[in-house]
Amino acid sequence: MEEGALDFGLTREVLSRAGDVPVRVIPSYRDYPFPFRPWPALLSWGKRRLFLVPYAGRFFRNCPGTTRYLCCGYRIFHFGEGCPLDCSYCILQAYFNRPGLKLWANLWEEGWPELEAALNEARRDNRILRIGTGEFADSLALEHLCGVAEELIRRWVELPAPAVLELKTKVALREDWLRRLPADPRIVFAWSLNARTITRKEERGSASLEERLSSAARAARSGFSVAFHFDPVILFPETLEAYLEVVDRIFATVPAERIVWISLGALRFMPDLKEVAEERLPETRIFTGEFVTGLDGKRRYFRPLRTEAFRRLCRRIREHAPEVCVYLCMESPEVWREALGFVPAERGGLPRMLDEAARRVCGL
Ligand code: SF4
Repeated sequence: MEEGALDFGLTREVLSRAGDVPVRVIPSYRDYPFPFRPWPALLSWGKRRLFLVPYAGRFFRNCPGTTRYLCCGYRIFHFGEGCPLDCSYCILQAYFNRPGLKLWANLWEEGWPELEAALNEARRDNRILRIGTGEFADSLALEHLCGVAEELIRRWVELPAPAVLELKTKVALREDWLRRLPADPRIVFAWSLNARTITRKEERGSASLEERLSSAARAARSGFSVAFHFDPVILFPETLEAYLEVVDRIFATVPAERIVWISLGALRFMPDLKEVAEERLPETRIFTGEFVTGLDGKRRYFRPLRTEAFRRLCRRIREHAPEVCVYLCMESPEVWREALGFVPAERGGLPRMLDEAARRVCGL
């Protein structure tokens, strides 16, 4: 941890949970002498090092979205960067130029007041906020070490704001952890889901599909809301059926009325990511398909392939639960029309659609 992080609450919390993990105080993360290794190997090294660093930027902000595609109006509470899991498609591999997992030591002293002000303002204006913590991290993968999600949930239930907190993850919930949380439907536990083989081969360190779904069922039974994100959908000839089977598993396990939304997004990546990921994880096959460059410079599957996958997934979801809100992540109005049969503008826009879903399921 940085010397400047020592006096903050989150640092004390991490130290109290660290057990016999070796701890060192360093003058600064920025000047830290990282071992000399090629970048892909250094990334792997960084997945086992946690740095506690005071953060100087904005903690609460808009999700940047992607230019030229429909965006959902999400907000981010930024608690740290980096993830101990290791998905071959993870954008973070090409995003940062220094390795390591980082938590912002001053999160509660300086970050929380920004979020609290926004929640109070939303309450005053009766305006719905949808907030997540997982822009540059998995929301729960470091929870055993930092307790950030638990503390946020405890603070959230004290504030009667019309705001949902979405905790996106690929890990299972520990039963004792879930049991001691104050239940509130404004807290949404959300799992990224993928076809079983993709989960096994491409999402290293993550929970299995069964573990994720049984966690979701437990969270729903305990009084929380849940959500699912099929993102990234990875298209091999054999995988679409496997995704449809995952949809069936969701509705066999989790009550539909507790599901606030399900998103669909196809694999997309900047060209740099392919290079780094293939060098780090040479067994990955996900970048071997045919791709085109989208309006945002990212590589994507051909539009007819994406459209067909979204159309079939959405149809299967609707067969189980016509009411559940389904949306596409970072797609154009044309793809919405072809795949889902409407464009968000006809329903007041995507943010409005999601606000309505939150109102219906999360009791806002
Ligand atoms: S869980 Fe998310 S943040 Fe973590 S490695 Fe996978 S894609 Fe990246």
